[in-house]
Amino acid sequence: MSRPLILVTNDDGITAGGIAALVKVAQEFGDVLVVAPDSPQSAQGHAITISVPVFVRESEALGPDVEAYECSGTPVDCVKLAKSVLLAGRTPDLCLSGINHGSNAAINILYSGTLSAAMEASLEGIPSIGFSFLNYRADADFSACLPYVRHLVDFVLTNGMADGSLFNVNIPDLPADQIRGLRVCRQAEARWVEEYTRSEDPRGRPYYWLTGRFVNEDERTDTDAYALEHGYVSLVPSVHDLTNHRAFESLRIIEGSLQPEGVTSEAEEEEVARQRLEQF
Ligand code: MN
Repeated sequence: MSRPLILVTNDDGITAGGIAALVKVAQEFGDVLVVAPDSPQSAQGHAITISVPVFVRESEALGPDVEAYECSGTPVDCVKLAKSVLLAGRTPDLCLSGINHGSNAAINILYSGTLSAAMEASLEGIPSIGFSFLNYRADADFSACLPYVRHLVDFVLTNGMADGSLFNVNIPDLPADQIRGLRVCRQAEARWVEEYTRSEDPRGRPYYWLTGRFVNEDERTDTDAYALEHGYVSLVPSVHDLTNHRAFESLRIIEGSLQPEGVTSEAEEEEVARQRLEQF
């Protein structure tokens, strides 16, 4: 049997410590292809590059025995290029993104390049996991993450993943022996409150620098934010479908109210056809 093919990417750039840690684990399980940005691309979300060209170069950033490419585009560009160009028709068995330097819990999934790369792979039907470590430092020590990464890679390669799904995995910044295990969670209704610092450039023009506070007013105990605060690794099974299924019932009325007079709806046509059939 051939080894699984694992695509690895991130948003902190190909020289970040987190991707090196992730590649080491991926190599234990399969053949690895790395396609990652050549510069930091955090908070690029699902952005793609369409008005300027994207450059791709072979990279030695992860050592001579890792097939790796660095790309001038966004994390999602990396996944698209991997699939359409660099993999030459092969489909990865798994896509891993990260390990991100910093949390992607709760609403961060929408801003995160790490998770958008994983989501892009999931759109292609590739089981996909985004990993994030709650430590922003460039020299963060990822060793406490590795047993969880290893276990989840093994789990998904063995069991697969529902189509269109991905795992958003966040790991608390604790020594390995203080992490209390893993919890499967819902995404907390936590959010960012923006804080812009105003300053002036040398010509006196005002500029603004975005920072913010992460605010969690979600008191439920089954959320990723709760799990992380209590020393657990959080796993949120996520999807790209942004439909609000809870709104359907209350919105059906709009369909009826916007139907022009004298025009029959498909439902009415079906009813007429059904009645005709009954006459025979
Ligand atoms: Mn990042």
